[in-house]
Amino acid sequence: MRPRRRFHARSPFANANGPAVAGPRSHAQERTRTSKGFYSHQHLKLARLPISPPGRWVGSYTRPEGKVEGFYTRRVTLDAPSPAREPSPPSTAIPRLRINEIFHSIQGESTWAGCPCVFVRLTGCHLRCRYCDTAYAFKEGDWRSVDDIVEEVLGFSSRLVEITGGEPLLQPDVHPLVQRLCDRGCTVLIETSGACDTSRCDPRAILILDLKTPGSGEQHRTVLENLDRLRPHDEIKFVVTDRADFDWAVDMVREHRLVDRCRAILMSPVFEQRAGLEIAGCPGLSPRLLAEWILESGLPLRQQTQLHKLIWDPATRGV
Ligand code: SF4
Repeated sequence: MRPRRRFHARSPFANANGPAVAGPRSHAQERTRTSKGFYSHQHLKLARLPISPPGRWVGSYTRPEGKVEGFYTRRVTLDAPSPAREPSPPSTAIPRLRINEIFHSIQGESTWAGCPCVFVRLTGCHLRCRYCDTAYAFKEGDWRSVDDIVEEVLGFSSRLVEITGGEPLLQPDVHPLVQRLCDRGCTVLIETSGACDTSRCDPRAILILDLKTPGSGEQHRTVLENLDRLRPHDEIKFVVTDRADFDWAVDMVREHRLVDRCRAILMSPVFEQRAGLEIAGCPGLSPRLLAEWILESGLPLRQQTQLHKLIWDPATRGV
């Protein structure tokens, strides 16, 4: 440990009653006094000089104003205050996403049903809906750079792109992907469960917000604030398993004035599978029954089916 510097016997700080050194000193004296350590950091604090670490010794001597007359010390020049911290530069890490599959098919849902569309399915979902038909997307997938994904998507003829999952908003780098695709002139649909915050989504993208009904078993996960962020081009989807789900959906539409907030409210019956292929735990709902309930409600709801499941075998992947 360095020995502590001792105050000079004649240092004004050796005696609280006042300065003991009067009058200017020669340059040699000042150097001597300084070399003995009179004017340590401790002294400067006592003299109430405007110092605060980190200061910079400039090596000049001056008479401090007020306080200690006839006492010489070093001037401490403070570094200029730090400017407000610049926002961190964008991460140089290459944005990348875990992708389950990318394919070109006919859009089977939403008001875009029937249009050729490129689907980008992201891996992962934090929900476990009873009727889920894409459980293979929970874990399977490969990491790919956003550049690589954009290149593959633009290689197809369609400029309608759906980002889906799983839950696509779980991966933060989905946002640069959507932005890049919008910049390249694509119409981008984001199909989300409504259980993730949508505030970061590019306003050019069209949200298909799948509001989870009680029959899904995941109704409580919905982020209701997402309803306040709906834009006129967005769409809401309810997957209906039974009459209780339908009644709940109608209550939501009325309570939150959803008809006024978005382009369409889609009612989708859980798909009735052929015997032996039913989704475990969820028997499916007759489209005709749902149609009757919609007509009874008097609301401008839009029924949809999963068109791709009528065109191809419902169990087929990548369509
Ligand atoms: S949110 Fe979609 S992917 Fe996730 S469990 Fe529900 S249906 Fe399946």
